[in-house]
Amino acid sequence: MIALSLAEIAAVVGGQTHDIPDPSVQVTGPVVRDSREVEPGSLFAAFVGERVDGHDFAPQVVEAGAVAVLASRPVGVPAIVVEDVQTALGALARHVVRRLGATLVALTGSAGKTSTKDLIAQVLQRKAPTVFTPGSLNNEIGLPLTALTATEETRFLVLEMGARGVGHIRYLTDLTPPKIGLVLNVGTAHIGEFGGREQIAEAKGELVEALPEDGAAILNADDPLVRAMAPRTKAKVVLFGESAEADVRAENVRLTDSGQPSFRLHTPSGASDVTMRLYGEHHVSNALAAAAVAHELGMSAEEIATALSEAGTLSRWRMEVTERPDGVTIVNDAYNANPESMRAALRALAAMGKGRRTWAVLGKMAELGDEALAEHDAVGRLAVRLNVSKLVAVGGIEASWLQLGAYNEGSWGEESVHVSDAQAAIDLLRSELRPGDVVLVKASRSVGLESVAQALVEGE
Ligand code: ATP
Ligand code: MG
Repeated sequence: MIALSLAEIAAVVGGQTHDIPDPSVQVTGPVVRDSREVEPGSLFAAFVGERVDGHDFAPQVVEAGAVAVLASRPVGVPAIVVEDVQTALGALARHVVRRLGATLVALTGSAGKTSTKDLIAQVLQRKAPTVFTPGSLNNEIGLPLTALTATEETRFLVLEMGARGVGHIRYLTDLTPPKIGLVLNVGTAHIGEFGGREQIAEAKGELVEALPEDGAAILNADDPLVRAMAPRTKAKVVLFGESAEADVRAENVRLTDSGQPSFRLHTPSGASDVTMRLYGEHHVSNALAAAAVAHELGMSAEEIATALSEAGTLSRWRMEVTERPDGVTIVNDAYNANPESMRAALRALAAMGKGRRTWAVLGKMAELGDEALAEHDAVGRLAVRLNVSKLVAVGGIEASWLQLGAYNEGSWGEESVHVSDAQAAIDLLRSELRPGDVVLVKASRSVGLESVAQALVEGE
């Protein structure tokens, strides 16, 4: 982060300094909430969690080199004491971001935020120093912590913004006001908490409402609820997608035999060919979104196409492909799942598995509310229609809906199996996998199916 004195930080966050002999001492970063990440020069933010209280770590973080603790009570070591640590962290991030010369890019959507953020970062990094959200730290704590890692050299700051309700994105854009705002899609993720797709669109659209007149709202032309956000912004609107009206679009989209998307990228200032290293056609939309951002920031179609063709996965468990020495391919997409990403992953599996035996090891999609039964049933049916060789549904009632969907769709659907937990799936696959098989592993985060993927990658 940029160096700030404790006195300046205390003033910015409206805090009281306690046990600080010299307030001109500077925090040189990073600002952290995990005591294990403290480095000399750090500021440690003490949060009170359900099981641990960050304040208890105060002596040891100072021992490890932290300059002070941002705390909600005096802790006997140098501290800036505030009423609410989260609010203070936000105020600090807002202050730092204002002082930076960086252009802020923010993105939201129901599915693909992290994948797209990683693509944008890999493209923009070719042009200038870029700081971006690590992993999926997209909430009211992760976002300021990320923003605070930017330095004077940073030219682009790319921030993933997650929303679990109306008002959340507005809170985040108040902390770190973006110049470029990207909305990927409005799906059914977290629909149980929101109440419906319209409410989700309402919440995600807060991103474009926050943009300035000289900014750009980058919207998915292929998603009607995202397109409909155009009147909500003062900024210029740039459309991306496969539809002909899109400013940044893909033509001749196809999946290579290994399941990697290839297409011709069209931008307002030229066209160029892309063949991605990532798997799954859903990355076409993510790549176009990234291309629209990069084009807006002055990159040429050729530069963007080269960067997209060389981009890899930066975040774990998202279509992570491992070839075992015995010729079995494991596709670990166990990070998360929703109906859109389940369908995209199944189609990628079908493309990768041409002429091979394919397995879909699937678990529940969480937070679907009233649509849960219908959505699981539909995914089970799609697996049959795509000719996936075998469905292994893992877990409780939702898994039985997956299996039932496959069963009712007919043909090999009867061959689908339902197992109670990850270990049972591992045992089954260990005994049945043959050289040449392709296995997709995917479910919502809470199911923890990465254990299946990892066990299969490690043990033959
Ligand atoms: P989270 O809300 O958990 O942070 P996210 O929006 O950041 O999720 P990713 O982590 O990029 O999304 O991807 C989540 C899942 O969605 C992955 O399994 C991925 O394969 C899939 N996915 C990625 N991009 C898309 C897309 N454009 N449409 C549908 N599914 C997608
Ligand atoms: Mg994410």
